[in-house]
Amino acid sequence: MGKRDYNRHELTDLQIRRIIRQRRRRKQKIKVATRLGVIFLSFILMVSLITFGINKFFFSEKGAQKRGIIFVDPGHGGNDPGAESSGRREKDDTLRIGLLIKTHLEKKGFKVSMSRTSDEYVDRKERAEMANEVKAQLFVSLHRNKALEGKGVEMWIPSYNVSKDNANEKLLSRNIMSEIKKVGVSQDRGIHSGVLYKPKEDYEENKYTNMPSVLIEFGFISDKEDNKLFDENIDEYAAAVAKGLDITFASLYETE
Ligand SMILES: [Zn+2]
Repeated sequence: MGKRDYNRHELTDLQIRRIIRQRRRRKQKIKVATRLGVIFLSFILMVSLITFGINKFFFSEKGAQKRGIIFVDPGHGGNDPGAESSGRREKDDTLRIGLLIKTHLEKKGFKVSMSRTSDEYVDRKERAEMANEVKAQLFVSLHRNKALEGKGVEMWIPSYNVSKDNANEKLLSRNIMSEIKKVGVSQDRGIHSGVLYKPKEDYEENKYTNMPSVLIEFGFISDKEDNKLFDENIDEYAAAVAKGLDITFASLYETE
């Protein structure tokens, strides 16, 4: 037995240990790589799911055909300012809240048609005809009241005398009123059919529409408290109207 053989023997042992160590290291590397791979794949899967979800969300917002069509009618416009009080014009208030209602409805998956989106004149009957044309399923007309005295929110729906049954309009107006009242009103002036002092007639927006419709008088433009409520809660009111429309739409069109 020479020194060489002994060394060789010792080296072999060392080599074996090295090999074992190297194998262990390799196994560990594989384990780590596998873990990283799993983490990476999970991450990719998560990102894909999130992207898919976002796409679906935006699709439903833009497409919006899924649920239905709602017509939002900001009263007056252009050379018809509506009621005026201390320089404040009804046509501006109705457009402001109308555009906000549109946004809230779109978030709920509705397609929204509007009689106007800027300060332009549209005939009252034409507004109803526009809604019929796009086959809207619900119609809401936005107005503000004016009087020497008086405050609060009131609504107008078609009378019993028109061809359509006004049960759906009652449902629609009650749902909207109850949501608006949750935000807060100076007074609940109730839901009326017909036209002021003429219960057997109808506002043209209610008279010529083929779908359930309601005209909302959003407080008095001549009342300080009502204007304050309107300005401070405009987005909440818009959300409330959208919610009332949403609830009504679900009960009229989405029951299985
Ligand atoms: Zn008006």
